[in-house]
Order: sequence, then structure tokens, then C-alpha cells
Amino acid sequence: MFGYGRSNFTWNGTLKELQGTYHSSVCKEGRRSRMTDSSNSSSGLEVLLSALENAGDVESTLKILSVLDELLSAGTDRRIYYMISKGGSEALLTALVNTARCFNPNYTILLPLLHLLAKVGYRDRRIGMKAEDAGAVVLTLNLLKQNLKNAKRAAACLWVIQVFASSVSTANLIGEHCGLDVIYRLIPHYTTKNLHTIKAAINAFAAVLCTKANVCLVVSKGYISGLLRLYEDWHCKDTHHVAIAIRHALLRCLHKVTYSTAGREAFFSLGGLRLIYQTTQTCLMNKALSSLVEPSVQLMRKCLPKTRLPLTSDLSAYSFPIPGRPHSDLHVNMAFSDSCGDSDEEEPEKNQETEHNNYDDDLETDQSKLRHRPEPDRPKEALAQYNVFCPELYHDFQELDLGSETERSSPASSSDDEDELCYSSSPHGSQRNGSDPFQRKYPKGVAQSDSRNFHIRSTVLGTSPSFRAIPKETRGDHFLQQNDHGHNDEEETGDESCHQTIIDRLLERNASCIPHHDPKLYRSAASKTKSIPDFNILGFPDFWGHLPPKGHEPMAPRKPNVQRQKVLKDVERFLNKDDIINKVIFDVEDSSLQCPSDSTESLRFFSKFECGNLRKAVQVRRYEYDLILNADVNCSQHTQWFYFEVSNMEPNVPYCFNIINCEKTNSQFNYGMQPVLYSVREALEGRPHWVRTGTEICYYRNHFCPVRGRMMATFYTLTFSITFKHSDDVCYLAYHYPYSYSALKAHLKVLQKSVDPAKVFFRQQTLCGSLAENSCPLVTITACPASRGWKDLHQLRNRIYIVLTGRVHPGESNASWVMKGTLEFLCSNDPVAQSLRETFVFKIIPMLNPDGVINGTHRCNLNSEDLNRQWSKPDPVLSPTIYHTKGFLYYLNSIGRTPLVYCDYHGHSRKKNVFLYGCSVKETLWQSAVDTVGVKEDPGYRTIPKTLDRIAPAFSFNSCNYLVEKSRSATARVVVWREIGVLRSYTMESTYNGCDQGIYKGLQMGTRELLETGLKFCHSLLSVSKDVKTLYSRRLINHIDLDHNTLDHTSNDCFEDDEPPCVEEIEYSKDCPALKGADLDSDVNNNMACCDEDEECEGEQQRNSFSQSSMKSRLYHLISQTSIGTE
Ligand SMILES: [Zn+2]
Repeated sequence: MFGYGRSNFTWNGTLKELQGTYHSSVCKEGRRSRMTDSSNSSSGLEVLLSALENAGDVESTLKILSVLDELLSAGTDRRIYYMISKGGSEALLTALVNTARCFNPNYTILLPLLHLLAKVGYRDRRIGMKAEDAGAVVLTLNLLKQNLKNAKRAAACLWVIQVFASSVSTANLIGEHCGLDVIYRLIPHYTTKNLHTIKAAINAFAAVLCTKANVCLVVSKGYISGLLRLYEDWHCKDTHHVAIAIRHALLRCLHKVTYSTAGREAFFSLGGLRLIYQTTQTCLMNKALSSLVEPSVQLMRKCLPKTRLPLTSDLSAYSFPIPGRPHSDLHVNMAFSDSCGDSDEEEPEKNQETEHNNYDDDLETDQSKLRHRPEPDRPKEALAQYNVFCPELYHDFQELDLGSETERSSPASSSDDEDELCYSSSPHGSQRNGSDPFQRKYPKGVAQSDSRNFHIRSTVLGTSPSFRAIPKETRGDHFLQQNDHGHNDEEETGDESCHQTIIDRLLERNASCIPHHDPKLYRSAASKTKSIPDFNILGFPDFWGHLPPKGHEPMAPRKPNVQRQKVLKDVERFLNKDDIINKVIFDVEDSSLQCPSDSTESLRFFSKFECGNLRKAVQVRRYEYDLILNADVNCSQHTQWFYFEVSNMEPNVPYCFNIINCEKTNSQFNYGMQPVLYSVREALEGRPHWVRTGTEICYYRNHFCPVRGRMMATFYTLTFSITFKHSDDVCYLAYHYPYSYSALKAHLKVLQKSVDPAKVFFRQQTLCGSLAENSCPLVTITACPASRGWKDLHQLRNRIYIVLTGRVHPGESNASWVMKGTLEFLCSNDPVAQSLRETFVFKIIPMLNPDGVINGTHRCNLNSEDLNRQWSKPDPVLSPTIYHTKGFLYYLNSIGRTPLVYCDYHGHSRKKNVFLYGCSVKETLWQSAVDTVGVKEDPGYRTIPKTLDRIAPAFSFNSCNYLVEKSRSATARVVVWREIGVLRSYTMESTYNGCDQGIYKGLQMGTRELLETGLKFCHSLLSVSKDVKTLYSRRLINHIDLDHNTLDHTSNDCFEDDEPPCVEEIEYSKDCPALKGADLDSDVNNNMACCDEDEECEGEQQRNSFSQSSMKSRLYHLISQTSIGTE
């Protein structure tokens, strides 16, 4: 602090001088000023303000105003804020009221006073209220009315009115006093005179339109038409572009009046869209007009008429009879609820700002709820059934004595019968085989047994119709033609056995290309997978497998103004309807639209295969398609994940795809992420890669709304362009690298075959069946004991438990790839894996939501519930996988084997990198400003994240968070921590996009990096295994720092979006860019300097004559030092 009392420059002396100068006009009887009671505590500024409020003579008031103005113009805005904090606004308002109330106001004072008030008021958030309190609002409006013909005075009033209108009640007050009409009359058609007054009027008009009431007023009075004509007039006649600011301000007014539905409708019906579109075309051609393009485009985007999605219903095309619930009840869940979350930890999106403001309210501060509560939610007797899932504790390992020749069939590693394990309770068996699954899908009053008997397939899985349509030469079949005529003829008939022949021949020819995968095993697994639509077609990439591409794939640079171009194309749909094809090409509900058409004019789509979820495709233009995703089963929302097949393409032409019913408010697609593509031709030529692809990628709010219900509910468009390399190809496009349920089943079989059963105890069991009767696998991995000796068996049976789960959210396929990395590593011959197996027993449930994954849902199970919100009280019938996972954890707890670590694998759509969420009492209380003295906590929950930060390239410690939120109280992480008592209970989030730190900075994640993350997670477990004596690799320990340091990082608030605001706003509802203070200042200053010809000058210029007076510069010096010192 700079204090005059402590400086050489004595305050008292200067103050006296000041008082001497101004005393005559200051201290009038009965009006105690701020400065009189204690000179020592007043600053020079306060003296001035007080003098201003109580001013008497014109000259001293002008001097004060001049000093203040120069003082405030010189520094940064902080000086003005300081002045506001010292009552500057009130002083100016008082002075204004005192001066203007006179019968014949003195404009020599009023003008500079208004100017200063505009500058200061602009920075004072409460200026509207203060002006109302001072009675200055209507007064200023009256001043304006009296000076409509005096451009300079009118401008000064308009700026002040603009500033006052920052508060809703003040703006309404101005509206009630016909302020809008008065101001509107000051906006003329094109002219070259008094431009700054016209601009002030338009800006004031826009500012007063900040309230609903005023917008209604203006719309009902028909001003929109006038504003459009004004804009057109200025646009056409301002050929030298000297009035861009005025055109800009008019656009701002149009933005404001279209905040209401009536305003948008009026805008559209009055031809506003076409007018703005046409003017924008001119602006696009002239660099000088570039500043007008963005507000024009956003205005058009906002005013595009709301269009319902071209669907018959918002409800998912797939529905499933819920046990115990009549089918008609499905509609209960169809309304757009507000539960549109993302991964476990993401904020519900719809009200993000309010959410964020209330974020601290969400923290759990009830210490009893933060304390561990290891009492089960069910009777102890119910836990006994889970002992079957700990075979390692009962197995006698007799096979260890039998030698190696029987290894392959040893019970320790074989469990091919897992599918038979759990459905013995089903009373009907497979008697319904052969009946049409669609006919019996929704019988009245569906009983539980019906859903348990959900379809058992007997058909042979084939390739998609488009695949069959690929010429044989392309598939490579022509090499076989000469030897195999019979088959070729059969192929033309297209029956299923022939499709199988095609596949078999392909495998025969290409087996050497796919050593990484076993397609036959996949097909066999898929044949047992039960889907609602009864998929009998295999997604080729899942069937054939894939390898990560050789190099890394950098994030895509965002093309400048890509959103602008997309919006202009959207606008053209409304303006040039004849150019739009609007032809439905694919509809999952209409079988006539699912066969390959002969048309060469359009692409073919298909998505009736596992994880596929395209609902409808509409050709909009020759090379542009609108795509609609299927909502989650039995519900009407959660669209984000996509996976579909496309064929019949022309090579080397960019095709534009618009997914028009996305729901999230932002997406990593705006920050470098690309969708993934798989080409069958490339795969057959030995390059079976999912590759990141697509240009012109953009994610923005569109004009579509749901079929029923709220018109205001909004959707977002994800748009991207793909240029296909080959003709006669079948390609697959997806949100992220798909990983199907059948892929998991096949993968577990491969793993089981791969392990050495003498070393690795690998057991796959079925934890339970899902709602649709798909088995939920539980995998046990640990080391076989070295011998059957007592000591070795004792060591085995006292190992520590680690429990890992994943894919509770079906759209998070990245979680499955990370899980695959974990499983593969734990089964490998790596010495670290060996030592982990010798230390721990791993219990892994890789897919908690098989039905969701199979049916291509993004978030929910078949009961349209987010399974990661069911952990508090999981329903055994509706959420069986959660109920039994929790039961199994309770069981482990009850036999004294509470897991040391629990981790649930997820994917995160709005952030980069890989990170963990954990649970900490101390950090949660600390964050809520609750006293944490005396709260004891083991800081061990930080060990794994800290280790991962060192060893896992994609991992970011700074994104981790250990806060316990009320809204997350029913998630796996929090429940396992609180109820099972697992200190190290985590959610692991992996980005869909890529990294912004570490060696992968700027690169998108591939499956290679996801697998690596799963491996590194295993490595990190070494850091917690220090607690127990083990034989892990010395080499690794050396580069993993195993210290258990207590908190040395401050917790990061990672609940904020970690992206900067988008260059092009995703939402069009954001306010149009606010006026800048500097612009207002310069306008005001120009008003002082300029002297329009037609203005009566009244000798005002004399005010400048004293501006250089010595008193003023001394004052200036004095005040500026005070201000700076006090900032
Ligand atoms: Zn998730």
C-alpha cells in the first residue's frame, strides 16, 4: 500500500491546499462530506468526489470533471474500479441529478458529466440500480427527449442510457417510459452525418433489449421489419464501408430481438434469413467486412426454424420387455430427462454453468457419510453363493503332479462351459427356437421368465449385404474361381450357407494376414450373443480383427471458419429447397430400405450388427448425408456413440456426414479428435487398420428438435467429411475403436488358450446373466502355486485381492481396450506380470453392461438406467451385473479378503489424457472449507496415480481428483470405497481423443496406447505391493518411485472443461459479443473533440482552456498516486 502518511510527500499539506482551493464550494452547512471527519483516512480521490457532489460553481465542477477524466483515461481500468469502490458512480449520479434538475440545465457541465458517467458506469456492474436509486434513469431519458436534434447531447445521453440498461429492472424502466421508441426514432436510413450519434442510438437500443419484456414490446410493435430494412439500406449504400460499426450494431439489435421465439419467427417470415444470407455473401467477398460475417452467421443459425427430427418417435428403435413392468410403461422413460451425463464423473451437461457455480454444494461434507460402512446391504447368508467365484481358494491343484502332457485340459485353466453355468433356472429351455423373435418380443404383461428366454439364435452369421456385393475380384475370390465354379453359382443366390462359404474362402486365403485374431472364434462367440434385433450379420472389423496403424496419428488441425461454412450450407437448405434431395436411404425400422439398392447415386448404409446404432440416413445433397443415431434401448436419449457400415462410394470425392442428433453441449471433435474408419478392401490387402480420419470436422448446435415434446430441446451436429480411397469398398465408421461383447468373449478364449496352465491360474466364470441373458464373465488370474506343498498353497490362499471392472457405459469402448491391455499383460510371460500374479489374485469383470454394448447403446442398460448410478441399492433383477459384483465384493470383505485396489475402467469424452478419480475424506472436507484438523487419513490413495504419472505416458496426475460428491454417491468408486472399505477405489478415465502432455502430446490415442495404459496400470500395482513382501522385478522398482509421500500436490479442480472456449461458439444462444469498454471510451472522447457543423456550440470549447492548468496537473499527480497505491 502506498500511504501518504508514510511518504515524503505529505498528505496533510496537500490536502490543505486542496481544501483551500475548493472549500468555498464544498462544505456547505448540513452536508457533511466524506472528507471532513477524518482527513487522514480520505484519499485525494474522495476529496474530489465529495467536491463534485457538492459542487456549486461551474468552473470548479468542470475542473474536477476534467481532472477525473484525465486521471481515469490514463491508467488501466483498475483506476476506474478503484473510483467505483470509493463511491464514484454515486457522486457522478448525484451531480447529474443536481445539474439536470434545473429548469435550464447547464450543458457545459452536463456534457462532460454524462461522458464521465458513461465511462465509469460501463465498469460498474451495479450502475443500473444506483441510477434508479438516484432517480437518474428517467431524468436522462428526458434529457434525451429534449435534445433529439442536438447530436452531441443526444449521443451523451444515449451512452449513459446504454450503460444504465445493464440491469434488467433499469432496462424495463426505460422500456416502460417509451425509451425504445424515442431511441428508435434516432436511427435513420443511410446518411453520412452524425454517425457517432446514430451508432450510440443503435447500441443503446440493443442494450435496452436485454429483457424479455422489452423484446416482446419491440416484436409486437413490428420493429423487426424496420431493423431489417435499416440493415439492408446501410448494407447497400455504405459502399465505402465507413459505417461498418453501424451495420455491426444493427446486427446486434437483430440478435437481441430474436431471443424470443416470436422474434425469430418474425425474422424468418419477414425474409430476414434470406436478407442476411445475401448480405453475408457480399461480406465474405470483402476483407473489410469480415467483422460482419460472424454475427450474421450466428444470427442465421439462431433463426433457422426449429425442425423436428425426421423420425416417427424419439424412442429407441429397439425396445426390450422389462421384467415386472408392462410394456406400456416404457413411455415413462421417454421424456427428455436431465440425466444426460457422460462418463462416471462428468457433470450432467444441460446446466453446466449453474452446475459449476454450485459445485461446492455437491461435495459430501457429512462425515458420517464419508466414513467407511462395511455392513452389507443384504443378509450374510446371501453372500455364500459367491464362494464359487474364488476357485483358487478351494482348488487342490492335483494336476501339478500329473506332468505337462495334460496341461491343456487341466481344470485350472479350462472353463469352456461358462455359458452353461448360470441359466439352469430357466424353465422353458430353448423351446421357442425357430419362432420369430420379433413376433414374441412384446407379449402383454411380460414376465421375467420371458425375458430370460430371450432369443437363442440358430442361424449362421454372415457378412453384410454390401460385403456380398463387392465384386469377387476385389475380394480376392477370383483366384479361386476356376477350381470352384459350383460355389460361384451358389453365391449369386445369396443364401446363408454361401455367405459362409465366402467367409471361409476369405479366411483360407487371408489367414496369414490376421495372425492377431481368430475370426472363427469370433464368429462362434457371436453366434451365442443375444441381441434385441437378432443380429445375424457380423461387423467385418470385429470379425476380421484389426491392428493398430504403424505410426502415431496427430490430432487434426481445425480448419478456420469450418462452422461458418457448415451453417451457411444449413441455411441454404431453407433458402434453396429445390437443391435438396432429402431422400431416406436407410432406416433401421424399414426393411425395404436395408437391401442394397442399385442406385449409383447414393451411398448404402447398414448398422444391423453388434454395437451398430445408425437409425436413419437421409441423403441431403449428392455427397452429403444427415445421419440419425438410435437412442439407448427403451429410452429416447443418450446418443453419442456411433458405428455403421457404408458402401457404394465413389473414390476420391469428399462425402459429408452430419450426425444431427448428438446431445452433448461440446465435444472433443472440436479439439482435434477424428472419427475412426475401417476399410474392408484395405484389410483384405493386408492393412486391417482402424484409422483416424475425416476433415472439416465440427460440432455445433443445430436447429433440430425432438419429434415430440419440447421444441426448445436442442441437438448438436457432428459433421465431418470423408474421402474414400477405393470404389467397391465397404467401410465402417465409428465414434471410437469398437470393441464388441463377442470380441470380449473371443478374446477371453484366446487368452485362456495362451496361458501356461502350469504357471497361470486363469479361470473364466459367469458372474450372472444380463437382462437379455448374456453371460457376464468374471475372470480370475493369479499364479499357480509352485507345488502342492503346504507352504505354496498357503501363500496362494493368502494373496491380496485386486478387483477390476469396466465398460459399465457401453459407449466407452476405450475402456475395453485398456482392459484388454490389462488382461493380456496379466496373462503374459513378462517377469513383472509373473510377480504380480504371485502377489495378487486378480478378479476382473471386464464388461459390466454386455446388453448395452451389444445393442449399440451409449450410456444405459436395457432398462434405460445408468448402471453406474445403481451401486447404492442395485436391483437383483434389473441390474444383475451390479448386484452380483457388489455381492461378490461383500463376500470378499466377509471372508477377510477386502480388495487392496478396486478400479472401474471408463472413457471420458470431454477431456484429454488418462486420469483417475479416487476418494479422500480430507480433500473433500478441505475443499468444502470444513476444518480437517484431527481427521486422519491414509494418503495411500495417491500412490497409484503418482506412480502412473511417472510410468504411463498418457497419464496426467494433474487431472486426477479425489473428491467425494453427493451426485456420485451411487457410483462404483464411491460405493466400493465407502461400503466395502477399499481405500484405493478408483474410476480410471481414458480420453477418446488424445493427450496434451507427455510424449503423446498432440497425438490421438490408438488402440496401441490404450492397451499400453492397461499394462501400465498393472505396473503401477507394484507400488502398492511394497506393503507385502514379494519377489517383483528389481529393475522395475528402480524406475518406479515407491515413496508414500503425504499430500504434496494441491488438488486440481478438474471438473471444469479443460478446453478453451471454442473459437466458434458451439451454442448460438450465447450473447452476441459485448461492446468493448475501449470502444465506448473512444466514442465518448470523440464526442468531446468533434464539433459537428450543425451544432450550437454555446461556447463549450472554453472548457478545454483550463485543461493544462497547473492546479490540475498537480491534482492529477496526487490522485493517480493515491489510486495506484490503493489498488
Ligand atoms: Zn463412464
